[in-house]
Amino acid sequence: MSGEGEGPRPPHRSRARGEPLDGAATRAPRHRAIATVCLSGTLEDKIAAAAAAGFDGIEVFEPDLVASPWSPAELAARCADLGLSIDLYQPFRDLDSTDDDRFARNLRRAEHKFDVMAQLGVDTVLVCSSVAPDAVDDADRLAGQLATAAARAGERGLRIAYEALAWGRHVSTWERSWDAVRRADSAALGLCLDSFHVLSRGGDPAGFADVPGGKLFFLQLADAPRLAMDVLQWSRHHRLFPGQGAFDLPGFVAAVLATGYAGPLSLEVFNDVYRQADPARTAVDAMRSLQWLEEALAVRDPASGLVPPPAAPALSGWSFTELGVDGVSGPRAAEVLAALGFTHTGQHRSKPVQLWEQGGARVLLNASVVRPAATGVASVAALGLESADPGRSAARAEAMSAPVLPRTRGAAEAELSAVAAPDGTQVFFTRTVPDGWPADFLPTGQQAGPGAGITGVDHVGLTQPFDSFDEAGLFYRAVLGLEAQEVVETAAPFGLVRTRAVTDPDRSVRLALSAATLRRGGWAPGVPEPQYVALATDDLVATARVLHEAGAPLLPLPANYAADLEARFDLPADVLAAIREHGLMYEEDGAGGYLHLATEVLGDRVFFEVVQRLDGYDGYGTADAPVRMAAHRRRRQAALVPPR
Ligand code: MG
Repeated sequence: MSGEGEGPRPPHRSRARGEPLDGAATRAPRHRAIATVCLSGTLEDKIAAAAAAGFDGIEVFEPDLVASPWSPAELAARCADLGLSIDLYQPFRDLDSTDDDRFARNLRRAEHKFDVMAQLGVDTVLVCSSVAPDAVDDADRLAGQLATAAARAGERGLRIAYEALAWGRHVSTWERSWDAVRRADSAALGLCLDSFHVLSRGGDPAGFADVPGGKLFFLQLADAPRLAMDVLQWSRHHRLFPGQGAFDLPGFVAAVLATGYAGPLSLEVFNDVYRQADPARTAVDAMRSLQWLEEALAVRDPASGLVPPPAAPALSGWSFTELGVDGVSGPRAAEVLAALGFTHTGQHRSKPVQLWEQGGARVLLNASVVRPAATGVASVAALGLESADPGRSAARAEAMSAPVLPRTRGAAEAELSAVAAPDGTQVFFTRTVPDGWPADFLPTGQQAGPGAGITGVDHVGLTQPFDSFDEAGLFYRAVLGLEAQEVVETAAPFGLVRTRAVTDPDRSVRLALSAATLRRGGWAPGVPEPQYVALATDDLVATARVLHEAGAPLLPLPANYAADLEARFDLPADVLAAIREHGLMYEEDGAGGYLHLATEVLGDRVFFEVVQRLDGYDGYGTADAPVRMAAHRRRRQAALVPPR
């Protein structure tokens, strides 16, 4: 075959912040682009968001242009002002596989779009495989019509990138699209590879090795959760940014780059949340996904030329968890911490913040956190993570589009860097050394008592707003270098709850992120957006006894639950007795068991758990969550309805 070189193409415009396409493979970062269809709003909203997040270019989604008052030339000028190139015009539908008359009309339509492209200054149009019910299954006709259209494009210095839609009428695999491009044998015709269309059908990127890089005209990237459903609906509602789903995007892109492809890494994500969410925020999430992806590629292949961000320093545990409290919830939280065996050991030098300690667990009660919450609410305001190199952790965060928050501090106080997680929780990078952050606390003189056997913090559970659930998973993965675990769905009393944990390889930092799968309406009988701090013990039965005697507000569970445990598990008699007496919960995964208990909810939102992992149990007690939620609901009712 011939025509394996580059098709005719005019020089790309305005690469102010990006790299030139040619030769980009040896320099970093890659040219990063985003399809306007990924973002909510008008075209003006979309390009402003893309530019602010640092993208180099956009794909213009035709319906966005059609709905815009800007002429194509005006859009081009505005993009140039923002430093954005226009890398693709898309989509052109149902061009081919049709009779001669209709194809002639389609060519006329194409010529109109070529005029638009000339005004936009974009050289590549995406033609997707026909979905017309009467499309003809004829490989020669398909190739011939593509070649004719490509010749028309080529005469004008334009080119066609042909994409196999996963639900195309006859061309639904990338191999079929490549067969058509090869048969058409036109310099102005190449492939568009879209990771969703390939991976949703179980396509094997290893086959890309047969495609010359010069025939790969464009690369579109989307991740997705593994779902067994109609592929069109899957694509239209559930695409995600790379790193948020279950597809192997690094493997996919590595196979594409190995062909010599030097064009943009461009995101094309259709998603029910992103269609509605603040485009500025979505664009940052999108940019972070490419930063994460490029790092994965650089690590995978040091010869890729991609420069990775500073590696995430190892995390070795929790230096503190901080609860934001007020005059109502603060004293209640202090009372409960005391009953859990904690000691108020320190008082902050300049802020109304108390330090409470037991074993390796430190909890801060901060009465200076300003949050628009109702009176009496306590919530997790900050997480202090023990980093091997806090400065490098902060630099890493900056490189992953998570800017370090401005902070005020007293003269003698430790310098701490924090970033904001998507739900607003502040994440601090710390090292707990004697002259570090603990020196900001003056000793209260209270001596630690015997405690209740709590050794440290096992994990923190944070309910995420539904719209930031996927964003949060990627945030912790990219910014902190944590691993994302499988998404688990639990049928809870007030709706399905989705949980995804993120953790470091040593399991020294674990976070359980949850979200209700549908927004709640007016009826919100459970604890809205609950949060909890899970404290670790080596002997929960003994700890529970101590807590019971100290009057800790342990959550009572129904006898039915204990009876069910007795039926399902062969538990020792003393453990079963403690389950009945103190409201312990128990579940198992493939490795081991998990004994845990919960306190009542403090200040409307937060509770503590005390947990014991047995034999390598690696979960988060999600199977028991429905029982716990129902019990919290009953306690809430009891609190709201005064006794007669
Ligand atoms: Mg596509």
